[in-house]
Amino acid sequence: MAATAHDTASFITLDEQWGAHNYHPLPVVISEAEGAWVTDVDGNRYLDFLSGYSALNFGHRHPALLDAARSQLDRLTLTSRAFHNDQFGAFCRDLAALTGTEMVLTMNTGAEAVESAIKVARKWAYEVKGVEFDRAEIIVAAGNFHGRTTTIVSFSDDPVAHDNYGPFTPGFITVPYGDLDAVRAAITPNTAAVLMEPIQGEAGVIVPPAGFFAGVRALCDENDVLLVADEIQSGLARTGKLFALDHENVRADLYTLGKALGGGIIPVSAVVGRADVLGVLKPGQHGSTFGGYPVACAVGRAVVELLEGGEFQERSRDLGEHLHGRLNELVGKGLVAVRGRGLWAGVDIDPAAKTGREVSMALRDRGVLCKETHERTLRIAPPLVITREEIDGAVDSLTEALHA
Ligand SMILES: *Cc1c(COP(=O)(O)O)cnc(C)c1O
Repeated sequence: MAATAHDTASFITLDEQWGAHNYHPLPVVISEAEGAWVTDVDGNRYLDFLSGYSALNFGHRHPALLDAARSQLDRLTLTSRAFHNDQFGAFCRDLAALTGTEMVLTMNTGAEAVESAIKVARKWAYEVKGVEFDRAEIIVAAGNFHGRTTTIVSFSDDPVAHDNYGPFTPGFITVPYGDLDAVRAAITPNTAAVLMEPIQGEAGVIVPPAGFFAGVRALCDENDVLLVADEIQSGLARTGKLFALDHENVRADLYTLGKALGGGIIPVSAVVGRADVLGVLKPGQHGSTFGGYPVACAVGRAVVELLEGGEFQERSRDLGEHLHGRLNELVGKGLVAVRGRGLWAGVDIDPAAKTGREVSMALRDRGVLCKETHERTLRIAPPLVITREEIDGAVDSLTEALHA
């Protein structure tokens, strides 16, 4: 039986009555999805212009990813790392080969990957670099978003994410994003790592000045400091290359990966990088019950296989150019700025026009789902399976929504 408008309201009432209120979703209740499209409980179809913040780079329910998950579910789900399983090693090998790295630490969520990278960088600083015990410092950027754990929000400067969660974890030095002189000035003999997003997603898709990361790389080399790139949102084809850092021809010592690594099916995250850095971890010193479990590894391997072909990187590059061309036509006509790379854009709405929320609602009414980040910025990140025609339709809807 077809659902009715009554269902949307009653599902939302359930959420509000029983779920913690830590999100403010658009009032749409999704019950089915395929590729770049979702369907709500009333049977309305919408183009997904957000992709679960890049968790759905390959679209909803990509057949190869579903097959990998299903056939693994039919054989083996969980072993814990107390025993070996026949999926783990192959996933690590394939992910290392794809990313040009030497070692893989498997976790589940993005925040866990970042936490793991912080722990590894500190341990490396004490055991390899020789930093005085408990003095290690990690340089981070203003406007960062790296997840929601207590340690990670300790160095968030977003009051909504940070306030009233103290006491906070010390050992983080914040510099303005994209300011190489500030990074240079912040480095001390106790610096373990520079931890940054190659493009800041949550902050509104902020692209740093050209050459910034090459400069950071050089400073890290001169001072025996690790460069840790958080590619959880920017990586895995979103910007038109495997990593956003690849646009700068820069290699990090450690990369954190998540979101799309789970193919939009299950949470899979990892830290990948140098064996002499990840190698500081010895048995018992770090872990996760589900980290690297067989279902995660099977889905992760299928994700790696999709990325090996390069098709998604190419789609993001080509279609991204088209998307940015279309969005730039709206500057001065409801938008004041367009940023980003590949199929990823942050657009600032003219303050004289509407709020991000109002535009998101007007887009929803026109069958396109996207979401504001901050008051006047929309984040656009369609699944990489989207077509040129679908992009055109969505940008036409945005044009209407800005003036509706
Ligand atoms: C989403 C995100 C995270 C956190 O990932 P979760 O899976 O939500 O914990 C960390 N870093 C960046 C850059 C992200 O975009």
